[in-house]
Amino acid sequence: MRRFIHWRRFVQGGVGIGIYVLVGRFNINLLWVILFGSLFGIVLGKVFCRWMCPLGFIMETLMGSGDKAKAQSSMYMYFKVGCPIAWIGGLLNKVSLLRVKLDPSRCTHCGVCESACYISEFNETHGLHRPGLVNASTHYSCSRCLACVESCPTGALSVGTAFPANVAREVTERGA
Ligand code: SF4
Ligand code: SF4
Repeated sequence: MRRFIHWRRFVQGGVGIGIYVLVGRFNINLLWVILFGSLFGIVLGKVFCRWMCPLGFIMETLMGSGDKAKAQSSMYMYFKVGCPIAWIGGLLNKVSLLRVKLDPSRCTHCGVCESACYISEFNETHGLHRPGLVNASTHYSCSRCLACVESCPTGALSVGTAFPANVAREVTERGA
């Protein structure tokens, strides 16, 4: 899985160009693209932006060109606003099937995952490994980049379903 995440930008670029060409070549109504992106949101959350969107590919390239702190801040603000697909996907993050899961027995609390995540950086109530914080992958701005999963040196973070039917347990969600 981590190897797949490592190639995310290529997937995003390839799928994004494909969608762009399809929309132009076959004159597809943008409402169909919004519907398609929203259906993905029900299962995967705001996954469209960082894995499929041609505009997201361009924006990420531009925003990622500065230093890390500036890039994190830009990402956080951009994914708070986005477009109709991002709005719907963001709202669905709380109920989507896909979540970032934590296996506490493998976590050394090194904090690398939270440094990789712009949500943890700018929200003291959200995190990925500290008990008592809300799981950052349920936040409206989580764009399913999975940088947190890729960055974890011990493999304590993984991609899983919202249901606690596997060994990895979800970070405690406040009020849940
Ligand atoms: S990067 Fe992995 S080991 Fe480190 S705090 Fe996060 S989940 Fe725990
Ligand atoms: S996938 Fe992980 S790193 Fe990316 S925004 Fe969501 S919680 Fe943060």
